[in-house]
Amino acid sequence: MDNADRAQDLIEMRTNHALQANKAKFKGADIDEPYCLACGIEIPQARRKAVHNCEYCIDCQQEQELRRRQQLGG
Ligand SMILES: [Zn+2]
Repeated sequence: MDNADRAQDLIEMRTNHALQANKAKFKGADIDEPYCLACGIEIPQARRKAVHNCEYCIDCQQEQELRRRQQLGG
């Protein structure tokens, strides 16, 4: 297995994880998602407690908000 294969595996792992989390959300389940949906790192419990059903780590959350602002404001 070379590095490209390993990277592909990682991407698939994260994609599957995100898909499952989305499925749970679609069902209306109150999920406590421990991993960032964007980068896959574990979100600190303190943050998960502070932000109900938080899905992204602080870095990715900021990136999302930045992107949203860019889309809105142009
Ligand atoms: Zn993240």
